[in-house]
Amino acid sequence: MFQNLSDKLQDVFKKLKGKGKLTEADIKEAMREVRIALLEADVNFQVVKDFVNKVREKSVGSEILESLTPGQHVIKIVRDELQALMGGIKSDIVLAKSPSTIMLVGLQGAGKTTMAAKLALKYKNRKPLLVAADIYRPAAIKQLEVLGQQLGAEVFKLGDKVSPVDICKAGLEHAKKNGFDLVIFDTAGRLHIDEQLMEELEGIKKSANPDEVLLVVDAMTGQDAVNVAKSFNERLDITGVILTKFDGDTRGGAALSIKAVTGKPIKLVGKGEKIEDLDVFHPDRMASRILGMGDVLSLIERAEEAVDVEKAKEWQKKLQTQQFTLDDFVEQLQQIKKMGPMDQILGMIPGMGGKMKGLSVDEKEFVKIEAIISSMTKKERITPSIINGSRRKRIAMGSGTKIQDVNRLLKQFEQMQKMMKQFSSMEKSMKKGKKPF
Ligand code: GDP
Repeated sequence: MFQNLSDKLQDVFKKLKGKGKLTEADIKEAMREVRIALLEADVNFQVVKDFVNKVREKSVGSEILESLTPGQHVIKIVRDELQALMGGIKSDIVLAKSPSTIMLVGLQGAGKTTMAAKLALKYKNRKPLLVAADIYRPAAIKQLEVLGQQLGAEVFKLGDKVSPVDICKAGLEHAKKNGFDLVIFDTAGRLHIDEQLMEELEGIKKSANPDEVLLVVDAMTGQDAVNVAKSFNERLDITGVILTKFDGDTRGGAALSIKAVTGKPIKLVGKGEKIEDLDVFHPDRMASRILGMGDVLSLIERAEEAVDVEKAKEWQKKLQTQQFTLDDFVEQLQQIKKMGPMDQILGMIPGMGGKMKGLSVDEKEFVKIEAIISSMTKKERITPSIINGSRRKRIAMGSGTKIQDVNRLLKQFEQMQKMMKQFSSMEKSMKKGKKPF
């Protein structure tokens, strides 16, 4: 995600940071490069122009150019402007009424049906009802039913012979009578915007008067997504945008242009095909990620959700007292895995985003490590130093791996222990007031 843009901008800023003093000509050159990078990322032409002008105006003031770290100042200005471009602060979903209602609209294939299920999962404690109002796409109703079953949410349907406006009306009535506190309308899409579709959606909006009319757009389609957003907004006065397929190779154009072009905020992002793959859109964190500053806050949030805090404390203690075993190691790996795909996690670590290029993190490696460790005896896991040549051979055979794989794992484990030993002795000497080195 955004890798190309991120790399290009980081290159520009590396040059700026390398200079002690900056001149107006340096800023001009840097802004020329920023402009090209944004255009290549498929950001709307007018948006790019306004953005670069704003940054340039703010950067050329004498107080910046004459400061001790002008490069850093310019980067900060770009970061702040990127954040502003994407809406400034995060924009929440507002569910005021009871039952609350969310209407999802968008072109066919944008990810509406999937998003309806993701939202039902997000708001599971509000007893959501999914309303199947896409009567044109042959498999849409069935797809919603399968997803509903998967997450344990009821799906309201009247087949494909009743008009979508009537389905939504009846769905809302059903929700009121049966104590549902949230109704999500999955409406139809088309391959392109057409008049009939817009009229139908206007009809649903008028009769259901939803709290949120959220436009679902495919982030991979860049400028097209922005044009679609503009058209839908003109007809339906949407309340926000959801960008899907953010896990793919999106260049950034949609995320960076939609707010500026439509005036409507991006509220959520879909980051995968699974119903858990939904994130709140944070303009500040996104701006930092684009500039390779990482997204430590999201990383911490993920860790808090996935990692058992008590367990983490226990590991820390064991590591410091050198009682950390291979059993703990495999348990730790399992928790890390729960945080999500490795490339997403690494992308959140400052400085790692750029380094990830060309480095595919092999999830299979995890499976291999788990297999190797589970082929060891209990004693071997507690005291890996007893694992000699013949034991290594047996473990490799048992786990269907090669001896080299077993060797590598043991080496990694040993290195980690050594590192932790250093940390703990460093910590001790610091406590005694000595310098660590
Ligand atoms: P609809 O026509 O708008 O209802 O679109 P669907 O919900 O049927 O989604 C179209 C395709 O996109 C399906 O194959 C989904 O699995 C896929 N999809 C939806 N959201 C995402 C996402 O966030 N990431 C990825 N990679 N695929 C998605």
